[in-house]
Parts: sequence; C-alpha cells; structure tokens
Amino acid sequence: MSAAVGADVEALCSKCGDVWHVVVAKVGEQIVKVQCKQCGGYHRYKSPHGAPKEKRQPSMFAPKPPREAKAPVERFEKPAVAADLTKPVRSYRASEKFEVGERVEHPSFGQGVVEAAEPGKVTVFFASGRRVLVQSKEGSSGGGLSRPKPFDHSNTAGGKPVGES
Ligand SMILES: [Zn+2]
Repeated sequence: MSAAVGADVEALCSKCGDVWHVVVAKVGEQIVKVQCKQCGGYHRYKSPHGAPKEKRQPSMFAPKPPREAKAPVERFEKPAVAADLTKPVRSYRASEKFEVGERVEHPSFGQGVVEAAEPGKVTVFFASGRRVLVQSKEGSSGGGLSRPKPFDHSNTAGGKPVGES
C-alpha cells in the first residue's frame, strides 16, 4: 500500500534529497507526482528506496560478437603463372586475345601476366592485384581454339597385358 493523495510520503527530491513530500497524484496504487515539503517543487515520485521501476537497468551485457578480424586482403605477390618471357609484352586491348603466360601492358594497371584465359575473359595478374579483363571471344565460336588438351592416359590403344601365364 502506498500513501494516499495528500498524505506525506518519503520521496527523493532532486534538489533536497530524501525528504518528506506530499502525494499529489496517484495512478492506481502508484504514486506518480509529489510535492517536496522542503522546496515546494512538484516532481515525479521517486522512491528513496530505489524503486526498480525508475531505475534503469545497466545495459545488459550485449554479447557483441567479437569483431571479426577481417582476413587480410588477399595479396597476390606472385602470379600463379610464370610469365612467358619468350613472348613480347603486349598492350592490353579488349579486342585482342591473350594466352596464359603472356605479359600484358595495361594503361592503368601496368604490366601483368595472364593467369587464365577463356573466350571473352582473361585473368591478369598485376602488381596491384588480379583483374579480370575482357578479351576477344574470337575463336570460341570458330572452334579454332588452341587450348592444350589435358593428358589422357586412359587411351593406351589396347596395350593391356594379356596372356599371363
Ligand atoms: Zn525539494
């Protein structure tokens, strides 16, 4: 039970501290407004006993996930493909076609080495990183693509040893 309106109540005044107040307003059993007997000021009722309702819970330990250490930006210090030094450095042009191992001179990225080439696309290693550049699709439709075929050991032309004794 709490004090009735007009009754004295111990409350916390922001100016005077924990002193006697007069209940001014209540909502149900809840004292909501009081008048300080010391300074005469009206203010919200604050229980001197630390009403938990007024108290702000110290912010919960928000279990913030530890900031994920971002994986260092991948640095490719070396091209995956050795530059073919027997071939001349070629200026990069989207209209041209490049082969793996070829050195490419790009107007903005500088010199790079072609690491992968496929019709219409070429991956070039530059000092600043890898770039996928456009290259000519020429050859992809004509079927004249001279891509080295993977080794095929399965076809040994009937070389199976037969007739074991
Ligand atoms: Zn007061």
